[in-house]
Amino acid sequence: MKLGIPTETLAGERRVATTPEIAKKLIAKGFEVLLESGAGVAAHYPDAAYAGVGAQLVERADCFAADIVLKVRRPSEEEARAVRSGSVYISLVEGCGEDPLLARMVENGVRVLAMERMPRISRAQSMDALSSQSNIAGYRAVIEAAAHYGRFLPMMMTSAGSAKPARLVVLGAGVAGLQAIATARRLGADVLAYDVRPETKEQIASLGAKPIELDLGESGAGEGGYAKELSAEAKARQQQLLADELAKAHLIITTALIPCRPAPELITTEVVERMRTGSVIVDLAAANGGNCKLSKPDEVVEHQGVIIVGHTNYPSLVPADASAFYAKNLSNLLEIMVDPSDAGPVLKDLTEDEITAAMLVER
Ligand code: NAD
Repeated sequence: MKLGIPTETLAGERRVATTPEIAKKLIAKGFEVLLESGAGVAAHYPDAAYAGVGAQLVERADCFAADIVLKVRRPSEEEARAVRSGSVYISLVEGCGEDPLLARMVENGVRVLAMERMPRISRAQSMDALSSQSNIAGYRAVIEAAAHYGRFLPMMMTSAGSAKPARLVVLGAGVAGLQAIATARRLGADVLAYDVRPETKEQIASLGAKPIELDLGESGAGEGGYAKELSAEAKARQQQLLADELAKAHLIITTALIPCRPAPELITTEVVERMRTGSVIVDLAAANGGNCKLSKPDEVVEHQGVIIVGHTNYPSLVPADASAFYAKNLSNLLEIMVDPSDAGPVLKDLTEDEITAAMLVER
């Protein structure tokens, strides 16, 4: 069975869907790995490393003729046309609801598996790309914030003077937020964190941060471990109750998301204007409308001395490890998709396993 791994073509995307280490394991299981020449270079995996483990370096078109195409980002128009009928296409699809491009692929006989639709059950944890990539984003967001901040994060006592620890607030304590807390703590900041799901309080405290508690008059806990959208009154109350804590922060990392809804606006313009000059906000929700009123996707803006960072692809800024984690997610998924045989892996019926059934894009 042939696996095709083309180069990612979206601007700024440096990840690749398999690494030499994972390619070696897949080949040992009987898969043929066909990689577009140069596909791993931006993630620091040269062609020679893949060739060294037995992967075949091929032209782009050959990747799309494979039995299973593995990608990181959603298909472009060109890619959607190139995937052949009868094959399987797996990637993040980045969207909710109607998707004419994917619908066309399905109509053409391609089975499309969306990595975002991985069910949040224990058995699927090792295949969950949203989690593996959010983890990296949470780490990288703190590094980004620290790089823009004109002061130290830890307490410093030196013969040339001393500095107090930075006060860093994390909004949203899911996968990215918890990793941001852990990273900021390692860098020595005083960390406070808030999430609308009450069960996060203990997780925040266990990482050495102080949970911010607000009485909103309703719970934000939704289904499947996710948050639900708050009522208009609770949203307004949340903004108001958070304002004083946020105005005192030197760095804010925001990660608050609700599946298939615009990101909740947690930081108003007024709050930004109350923050100390040189403070930094890193808005991980910038691609989904932003948790900060003033953030702009893929831009760094400054408002009255406060720097607001709106990058939308942090995993791509850690491309080697982000690719390694994603590739591992995919290889764990492939494991449940095939049966071994003397002639090599054989694809199972993808509607039979609850994981692949949930991931299948329907017409
Ligand atoms: P996410 O990326 O959808 O959202 C990030 C965080 O924002 C969430 O914690 C959410 O509660 C929070 N949020 C939403 N609205 C908010 C608001 N108005 N104010 C403050 N915070 C707000 O979520 P995620 O990080 O993907 O994960 C959510 C949960 O799912 C976590 O508890 C995680 O451990 C769990 N999870 C389980 C599995 C599994 O069992 N396989 C896999 C991944 C994640």
